Amino acid sequence: MHQGSFLDTPIEFIKGVGPQRAEVLKKELSIHTVGDFLSHYPYRYEDRSVVYPISQIGSGEVFLQIQGVLSAFELVGEGKARRLTCWLRDGTGQIELIWFQGISYVHKNLQPGQRYLVFGRVSEFKGKLSIAHPEVELIKPHEKPAQKGLVPVYPLTDSMRRRYLDNKFMSQVSANILAMPGFEIPENLPAYMLEKQQLVARHWAISMLHRPNNPQNLQLAENRLKFEELFYLQIRHLQLKSHRNRTLKGLVFEKVGEHFNGFYKNHLPFELTNAQKKVLKEIRKDMVTGRQMNRLLQGDVGSGKTIVAILAMLIALDNGYQSCIMAPTEILASQHYAVMQELLEGTGIKTALLTGSTTKKNREKLLAELKSGEISILTGTHALIENDVDFAQLGLVVIDEQHRFGVAQRAKLWRKGNRVPHILVMTATPIPRTLAMTVYGDLEVSTIDQLPSGRKQIVTVHRHDNTRPLIMQFVREEVAKGRQVYVVFPLIEDSPKLELKSLMTGYEVVAEYLPPPAYKYSMLHGKLKPAEKDIEMGRFKSHATDIMVATTVIEVGVNVPNASVMIIENAERFGLAQLHQLRGRVGRGAEQSYCILVTGGKLSAAARKRIQTMVATTDGFQIAQVDMELRGPGDMDGTRQSGLLELKLSDIRKDEALLLASRAAAEALLEDDAKFEKPENAPVKLELAKIPHRTVWSKIS
Ligand code: ADP
Ligand code: MG
Repeated sequence: MHQGSFLDTPIEFIKGVGPQRAEVLKKELSIHTVGDFLSHYPYRYEDRSVVYPISQIGSGEVFLQIQGVLSAFELVGEGKARRLTCWLRDGTGQIELIWFQGISYVHKNLQPGQRYLVFGRVSEFKGKLSIAHPEVELIKPHEKPAQKGLVPVYPLTDSMRRRYLDNKFMSQVSANILAMPGFEIPENLPAYMLEKQQLVARHWAISMLHRPNNPQNLQLAENRLKFEELFYLQIRHLQLKSHRNRTLKGLVFEKVGEHFNGFYKNHLPFELTNAQKKVLKEIRKDMVTGRQMNRLLQGDVGSGKTIVAILAMLIALDNGYQSCIMAPTEILASQHYAVMQELLEGTGIKTALLTGSTTKKNREKLLAELKSGEISILTGTHALIENDVDFAQLGLVVIDEQHRFGVAQRAKLWRKGNRVPHILVMTATPIPRTLAMTVYGDLEVSTIDQLPSGRKQIVTVHRHDNTRPLIMQFVREEVAKGRQVYVVFPLIEDSPKLELKSLMTGYEVVAEYLPPPAYKYSMLHGKLKPAEKDIEMGRFKSHATDIMVATTVIEVGVNVPNASVMIIENAERFGLAQLHQLRGRVGRGAEQSYCILVTGGKLSAAARKRIQTMVATTDGFQIAQVDMELRGPGDMDGTRQSGLLELKLSDIRKDEALLLASRAAAEALLEDDAKFEKPENAPVKLELAKIPHRTVWSKIS
């Protein structure tokens, strides 16, 4: 860490480590110094302060400590199932102890009839409680077992364990460090902030984290370190934002001219919702400030983000600039392109589509027209960010369904202009506010919080697959009314062959009730070539077919307003975000729409919760919240690649209050002393000087 301090001491100099173990620590955990070691936090604690009576142990996989007398051993099973078992009895009850490995060692060293202190994870099988591979310690007669209190458990690698660098080793090293003369951890938050936020000192907190003496103090320590973690994340977000504002000159789109006005008057097929008008205003405002726009446009599925993007692109055009819109899949890109062509028909504005399957010849022509400025709006997939794609004057980049694009790709995009273009990121996977602040804290956020009027709430139901005849009768009626229907099957992981097979089986089930040719089918799956997908999509869109049988390739953004029923088969296999996206394919027209979630066997608790949530609400934000609670923020779409959620301690599901407090503290500090020149802010200045991220971050737009 800093100032050539104690924390910089190479780890091999610590008692109990030495050069060989130090090598392992370096290699396995990147621990080079004492400071590194101390910031390798325990990930949980075992409570050794209490010895439970066996009768009080419930099921539910928990670690706990018990003591009792060992029964005689029994060797049972053969081969891989061979195991050594015995009972531990404490007068209130008994529990089985099991070993699958190290059998002869255990046999030799543990003595039936003696009293042992036992620690391990209790599991239940057919009503019987047991602990596999417990930690055991002999209690000598007339001797009380040593009080251990809270024991930290460190993240370790297998390779470390193989070399006996286990948790005991880690605890010992941390104890040795804490006991060294000169052990001192400098504070990295200003004193006034500690006082205002009621936080404990860093030295105390880190010591407590490694050697907690009671749960209350541990919590104070964690609180302090979580605040610190979130505070520096927010500082970095805010600095990045202001760095961009200071150093990057944004294009100024002053004019709102004939393209925008002409379109608005003559081509816009509907009145914008107030929410759309509001966000459009926010975008327009960004584009005249002389700063680069970096805005996240959130809006639930079907809220009408595309038209907002198109209007923004027309403003760019009015100011002499080209735009591009990038989508995550070819289907979506060609749909955007089709929408654009339809809407812009008769305006004379030239648009083009560039994807991975654009032919070489077309691509060459397109690239030339892009360079000459003839093409005003380019739609496409990742193909847009390839190196040879050069614009004459790129002014606005729209990224649709951002959760599939990483931060690095954003950065790559803006290098395409001689000056940085404005950036509008759109997402239909709404994310909870806390998550947005953690992941997109450097972006401005606009939200479309209203659906176009006239939409009816989608009716969502959960049905068992033994009611299929009824479900199919319903489909028959809807098709008779002229509606169209989606039937979606889960994707079988990484196996296009199996995907097709399961889809064909699914199709046969449906076709049995609704036989072709009376009912006309489209089919969409991952194995089709993009052009074939387009044709299938096109047939469904033009109502040449009634029923679309598909895998999740139709998930994002597909728009067929006449489709009114979405049947999701094996709905338990889908994640919440996916279910919400799929449901969003219906309810796009004026008709009443339905989503039928079909499941077969028994549901896991999480699957049940997902389905109940879908039935209970259509609010994407609420759904996202439940999703985050079920899966954890790290698993949510987009956050994994973003690399911005490297939070070691904080859990933004639980630490919202701390997150908000840290954001406010960061804002206040930057407002008051952006360069940290005041003496009381010196700790922040020092800390930031250590963070290597900054250089990288400043390149990311
Ligand atoms: P999303 O926000 O999910 O991307 P889209 O932009 O695809 O939604 O819009 C969904 C549908 O709603 C499209 O058919 C679009 O034409 C239509 N739409 C958008 N805005 C309005 C509006 N203000 N009034 C009526 N329909 C609208
Ligand atoms: Mg969309």
